[in-house]
Amino acid sequence: MKKSPLFIYTTRMGAYYHLTPFNQQSLNLDTCLISAGDFFHMENTLNKLQSETNISFRQYINQENKTLYMTSIDSYKIKCVEGQSNQDGVKISQLEGIKPITNQQYNKLARLINPEILVSLTEQPGMEAGQKSMKRSYQKSAKFLKESLDELKDTQISIYGAIQGGLDTDLKIIAAEEQKFAIDYPNFRGFTLYGFNKGSSWQDKEDALSVLQSIYDGYNLSYILAGYGDILSILWGMSWGIEGFEVEEPFRFAQDLKVILIPNFDAKDNDIEQFSGDKINFYELEGKKIKYMNFPINSDVKENVPLNPDCQCFACKNHTKLYISHLVECKEMNAQVLLTIHNTHQYQKLQQKLQEMQNQKQLNQWIRWFLQQL
Ligand SMILES: [Zn+2]
Repeated sequence: MKKSPLFIYTTRMGAYYHLTPFNQQSLNLDTCLISAGDFFHMENTLNKLQSETNISFRQYINQENKTLYMTSIDSYKIKCVEGQSNQDGVKISQLEGIKPITNQQYNKLARLINPEILVSLTEQPGMEAGQKSMKRSYQKSAKFLKESLDELKDTQISIYGAIQGGLDTDLKIIAAEEQKFAIDYPNFRGFTLYGFNKGSSWQDKEDALSVLQSIYDGYNLSYILAGYGDILSILWGMSWGIEGFEVEEPFRFAQDLKVILIPNFDAKDNDIEQFSGDKINFYELEGKKIKYMNFPINSDVKENVPLNPDCQCFACKNHTKLYISHLVECKEMNAQVLLTIHNTHQYQKLQQKLQEMQNQKQLNQWIRWFLQQL
């Protein structure tokens, strides 16, 4: 992975695209999640772009110089992949509803989009399904992975398998074992992990991840945590060796008119030295919460001050809570734009800090210190 941690920002529901190029530039995000279902109907356009113009896909969507991450599953959609009896494909949520696609079409789209990272197509088993039918969908996902590794081996695309199974360790083992053949492929990089949802217990997450990592112990794989990308999951995941995170929380919060309030990131050297450098245990995260503020705010506390006076983002440097409150009351979309800018800025700072602490080999110490502030 080019950068660790890698925060992979979602693009759904206009959460990212609704920013003007000016706003996007000032955010300086270096990744973009491409939800495959959004682009199946555009195959002709993408083909034309490639054959008749010099415009690449990433120029077309205004995401030049970004790491593109293409996946069939994105958590903004309620259910984006459905199983079907046909072994060649799945049904996927697209512009015109849920429609069947084959893995060949998925790989062809990947070739047109040419992302840095492709998560192989996967069938999401219904959690109510029995173990037998789960196993069938894992076998199908393993077949998709193998096909992508073969069909795209002449490209620069790094391919990740998808590990499903919720937090059920038995199912995670089946999903992992089915895809073990992939370690022999040079274009295989690791796995995107599903089912580590917000709200499940830290102990369950820890159990599921340790089982998975023990299966691939000794192989140099990289892991990406799918889903919401809340800050505590990122801290936990970093401590456990996960390098990439799908991130939608800053956008989702902005849509819900929530402002992320993070305590100071900067510890003094002697502050963190007292903490242990061991992996974070599940019980250390229990009861911890990141604070946020919710608009609309009461009229008597509408202050003419920034969201956070210490924040250096465009929203905080140029606007006040009072003004954003006004935008909220007028149902003006700029409120969400400004909150997106602020929330995303917090993630950028977190990413920098984690990188810095990792380089200094003080990651776990810093995370422990940070958790004490919550
Ligand atoms: Zn700010």
